[in-house]
Amino acid sequence: MDHLDKPDKYLAKGWNQHIWPPFTQIASSLPQQRVVGSRDALLFREQGPPIIDAISSWWVTLHGHANEYVANAIADQAKKLEQVIFADFSHPQAERLAERLSHITGLQRLFFSDNGSTAVEVAIKIACQFWQNRKEPRHQLIAFEGAYHGDTFGAMAVGERNLFNAPFEKMLFPVSRLPWPATWWNDEDIENRENETITQLARLLETPTAAVILEPLVQGAGGMSMVREEFLKKVETVVKDSKALLIADEVMTGFGRCGDLFATKRAQVSPDLMTLSKGLTSGFLPMGVTMAREDIFETFVGNDPRLTFWHGHSFTANPLGCAAANASLDLLENAPSAYTRFESRHLPHLKKLAQHRKVTKPRLTGTIAAFNIEVSGKSGYLNVVGKSLKQFALEHGVLIRPLGNVVYLLPPLCITDDQLEKCYSIIEDGLEFC
Ligand SMILES: *Cc1c(COP(=O)(O)O)cnc(C)c1O
Repeated sequence: MDHLDKPDKYLAKGWNQHIWPPFTQIASSLPQQRVVGSRDALLFREQGPPIIDAISSWWVTLHGHANEYVANAIADQAKKLEQVIFADFSHPQAERLAERLSHITGLQRLFFSDNGSTAVEVAIKIACQFWQNRKEPRHQLIAFEGAYHGDTFGAMAVGERNLFNAPFEKMLFPVSRLPWPATWWNDEDIENRENETITQLARLLETPTAAVILEPLVQGAGGMSMVREEFLKKVETVVKDSKALLIADEVMTGFGRCGDLFATKRAQVSPDLMTLSKGLTSGFLPMGVTMAREDIFETFVGNDPRLTFWHGHSFTANPLGCAAANASLDLLENAPSAYTRFESRHLPHLKKLAQHRKVTKPRLTGTIAAFNIEVSGKSGYLNVVGKSLKQFALEHGVLIRPLGNVVYLLPPLCITDDQLEKCYSIIEDGLEFC
């Protein structure tokens, strides 16, 4: 094992020799910083002052880091039952969670998996097999430009084809795609763009369609691209007319992020399938769920083994994850104003920032505030302006992670007014340097 002893050229730059980091080109990135603790909105590094986590650590941390109530629920559960095979056995935490999520989503059946991507895989597979089970096979899937649904193959296929999945392009199944009529403050032309998409959608739906998948109200990785509630209502109407299933990918938007418990709830849209993860366990443990309408579930029931949904994961309904999710729901239920009021906390800051000459397309949905930095060159994920702003903010104690020239704040609900104010003022200062 000679090579392991050689001085590592990346090690010299501070990279760990054994870790392959996600979504990172180490040749052009600064090494990972070691985090040794956390509390509420703060991350404590081995070196340097605490930083405010303004992006909820990739959109997962919901109530706050190391939240004691959630931590205790996990610890208590770990001493009772840490894991059990979920095929022949069930357990109280899973049953309680299923009942509660059914109640608040209006979708009766819950299927457990491990993360957002698997929740999406499950939704796509259920949608396709649903039509198969009904003996009316439908093969078309419809998704939106700019969509992100995860990194496994099915999730990549319904996501926007881009740099990230280019090496696999030939292996991804075909998906019909529509423009996403994103909007922002003082957007005059939005109704035309929405109508154009709805017309195209209606045309596509003339072909029998298994499902339409979308991120309700906000496309996350695609650049915090926001649409109006009215648009979602129109999509719902057209999709329901065609009998195609509507899949709402609420992996990012769920659990208060959009100012209501779910983005679809805020827009008063009723999807047939819903995917949840990220904030589900308040960001403590990896877990995904796919919610389904009862009559979808019923098409999978019968004596013919081919009707069965032959899908499952080792850690299905992990009791620790379920305990965390139940605790997180307790906190949401006890203090809904933490998310319903968040938009009004962002508002004055974003209004002020919107005056800046480099700020374009300011937009706000619930806890998510975003804008674009005016750039002369090409926009998009690889634009470096966001990278230099990120570096500036980090040096001043704020963690942001712009998507190219799109800057956004998506903080944990517990962030204090002072901390939020600091995030905005650092960004404003940073705009002068990037
Ligand atoms: C993050 C995300 C996913 C993928 O979730 P993972 O847990 O990272 O696999 C899927 N859909 C949306 C909308 C997401 O934001």
